[in-house]
Amino acid sequence: MATAKPNKKAAAVAIDLPECPVCMETMSAPIFQCQSGHSLCNSCTQNLMPPICPICRQNLTQMRNWQLEEIVAKAKVPCPNKSAGCVYTMVSVDMEEHLKECIFREMECPLGIVFGKCSWTGKLKDMMEHFKERHTDHCNATSDEEVELTNVDIKNDDRHFFLVAQTKFLFIITVKIDTLQNMVYWTIQHIGSKKAAHDHIYEIHVLSKQNPRRKVVFTEHCFNDAIKPEEIFRQGKCAALPLEMLVHYIKDKKLSFRFFIKRIPPAPKANKNDKGDGKNDNKPGPKGPGPKPKNPNQDSKPKQNGAGPSGKGNKNKAQA
Ligand SMILES: [Zn+2]
Ligand SMILES: [Zn+2]
Ligand SMILES: [Zn+2]
Ligand SMILES: [Zn+2]
Repeated sequence: MATAKPNKKAAAVAIDLPECPVCMETMSAPIFQCQSGHSLCNSCTQNLMPPICPICRQNLTQMRNWQLEEIVAKAKVPCPNKSAGCVYTMVSVDMEEHLKECIFREMECPLGIVFGKCSWTGKLKDMMEHFKERHTDHCNATSDEEVELTNVDIKNDDRHFFLVAQTKFLFIITVKIDTLQNMVYWTIQHIGSKKAAHDHIYEIHVLSKQNPRRKVVFTEHCFNDAIKPEEIFRQGKCAALPLEMLVHYIKDKKLSFRFFIKRIPPAPKANKNDKGDGKNDNKPGPKGPGPKPKNPNQDSKPKQNGAGPSGKGNKNKAQA
């Protein structure tokens, strides 16, 4: 058993997924067989007329090839956008989720999605260039610089959209005045994966045009662009102010805010070390994840001197 498992894994990674001999598409469940055992995909099995195997001329059957289906389900397949640069591989059930957030997919203009009037489609890497050519008013917001919205009126629904590039990442800022909810909302979304979005937090500083000492600051996690801003607003996981408060920040129909987007330093390594320490350390300490590897060694020395051979023996077992 112990030797079989690694072999299985290696096979799953190395294997080239079988193609249907008729349509040449990569096989996916359900997979059917002819009378002599050739495997065909579902659509070819249902649609071939007459229902005869093109390889051996025997009849097709409704017999499934369960083992092959299992291999296909476990195998990691490359992203269909591989030729565009995506290096992601995944089991086929995860494909749909990934394609929603693959940064190498063909994308629509996000401004066109919100306001219409733009039919641009293209790759993420060309999106900022498109904005600089066609939507200059929607890509001029810069981190830590005052963004001034004009013609702001809390009696009218309104929406502002900015595309922001920070390091190699793209973000969308949405500001929405919602007279029905009587609220103004800000959210910053990362165009890309959920995980990358979660690695970023943003701050919104709303600055009063009437009194420079007045300011409200929000700190929130970024969402990715797979979720609609309206859903983020509905969940309340965004910067938001009641419109009667916003009034005090507007002057001459102008409203200002600053924003900051920060990447959160990765933390999982620290967690792994903590777990490792916990496993090696047999003594239940008062602070579970706290003790460093050095402490048990320091503890063992006095034990060798003071507590006798039994203490030493236990310690050796613990270390082995
Ligand atoms: Zn086929
Ligand atoms: Zn056949
Ligand atoms: Zn991809
Ligand atoms: Zn556009």
